[in-house]
Amino acid sequence: MNRRELLQTGAMALAAGPAQRLMMGQGNPMNDHAAVPRTNWAKNLHYSTDRVYAPTDAAQVPEIVKANAKLKGLGSRHCFNNIADSTAAQISMREVKGIFIDPAAHTVTVGAGIAYGELAPVLDKAGFALGNLASLPHISVGGTIATATHGSGVHNKNLSAAVRALEIVKADGSVVQLSRDRDGDRFRMAVVHIGAIGVITKVTLDILPRYDMSQVVYQNLSFDQLEHNLETIMASGYSVSLFTDWQKNRVNQVWIKDKAIAGATPKPLPPMFYGATLQKHKLHPIDDHPADACTEQLGTIGPWYLRLPHFKMEFTPSSGEEIQSEFFVARSDGYKAIRAVEKLKDRITPHLFITELRSIAADDLPMSMAHQRDSLAIHFTWKPETEAVLKVLPDIQNALEPFGVRPHWGKVFTIDPAYLRKQYPELEGFRTFAKEMDPTGKFRNAYLDHNIFG
Ligand SMILES: Cc1cc2nc3c(=O)[nH]c(=O)nc-3n(C[C@H](O)[C@H](O)[C@H](O)COP(=O)(O)OP(=O)(O)OC[C@H]3O[C@@H](n4cnc5c(N)ncnc54)[C@H](O)[C@@H]3O)c2cc1C
Repeated sequence: MNRRELLQTGAMALAAGPAQRLMMGQGNPMNDHAAVPRTNWAKNLHYSTDRVYAPTDAAQVPEIVKANAKLKGLGSRHCFNNIADSTAAQISMREVKGIFIDPAAHTVTVGAGIAYGELAPVLDKAGFALGNLASLPHISVGGTIATATHGSGVHNKNLSAAVRALEIVKADGSVVQLSRDRDGDRFRMAVVHIGAIGVITKVTLDILPRYDMSQVVYQNLSFDQLEHNLETIMASGYSVSLFTDWQKNRVNQVWIKDKAIAGATPKPLPPMFYGATLQKHKLHPIDDHPADACTEQLGTIGPWYLRLPHFKMEFTPSSGEEIQSEFFVARSDGYKAIRAVEKLKDRITPHLFITELRSIAADDLPMSMAHQRDSLAIHFTWKPETEAVLKVLPDIQNALEPFGVRPHWGKVFTIDPAYLRKQYPELEGFRTFAKEMDPTGKFRNAYLDHNIFG
């Protein structure tokens, strides 16, 4: 294998879509309305512009950036709030793909628009893997790192923490490369970028030797078990998720994903786990949803990328029509925070598909929700009932305020920006860095003005 080898992939073939009609270098980049839907994935948000650029190559981006006074990067549109919205123009990076594996450096460099589900099988085939994945494989790398998207695991940091280097097109159209090894604080500021610093064209990620995993589910774990065992339960596998509807003082399902050796005789699965019982058949986290959409369970062994996400690439993840919110507290406060939210159960459950509790290891990225804090994330998959969700959210947020709660940047929250900013000790540094990258506010939108710049 060459040191930098371009792997011909299905992902690259996908790049030959209608967006190739984009005419660059002629001073008239054509918008591609048809190829990029005007709502986010969940359809709870209509974007405020029809002007969309859809480059197929990173080299096309500087001209588009220069030609627009206001512009917003767009990934796979999986955020639930207006973080990616613009009243002027968006640049969808979804067709900027490409995969370059550097086996000696243990890195892969990708076009920012590639989805993890497109990257993972290629990496696996080449003998490599990523350290973790989110619950769904459909999300773009550039948009995922923007919001510190995470999976679970007490020793696993979020997906942004795997970034080794970035290529960014700044507001003036110049191209900047930042790397973990060379650029210290400027690099740390740039990784969880919240769309504020430019258009990310390429991302270099750490890779590991490939591994296999199995996944098993237990049902009905009493909340009482979490009082003294939360840490041990969350550490009982490589990646552990607890699903609850907040009723009956219990976690409905415990999902344990662990590393395994393919071909080895499977160990018998313990029938009980802290009083919870081993699943008898495959389960969806939401009770009445068909489990076909979920990655394989029941202890069967398979590649890392077919066990770490909860949902398969070829199916609609989660519920489809839904809203999500998520709140991060220190894991040491996890039990108290769970009980504080539980007090609101009768207001929450009627509007809820399911809650998921996950753990994320602390990192040093200034705008990460797990910045300097081993975290427990309390996640809500809501029914598509915006009004009701917006009524109950302030009470959940108030209940979590004593714990220094940080909301997921890409999900729905209504936290007072003054409180929010206090939760990020390096916020001032991030604002200064964002202004250096974007002195005219080209990449600012209502979300950034409200939450970050004030
Ligand atoms: C069903 C479902 C399940 C989910 N599961 C998880 C989960 O397990 N864990 C978790 O943490 N989150 C989860 N999320 C949330 C989601 O992963 C994040 O919100 C993520 O940021 C979405 O990435 P995206 O590419 O869709 O970004 P978008 O929504 O397209 O954009 C997000 C932000 O990034 C910016 N942006 C995107 N691409 C670029 C670029 N190339 N250059 C500059 N700016 C850019 C946008 O301007 C915006 O500010 C889930 C979402 C859904 C719909």
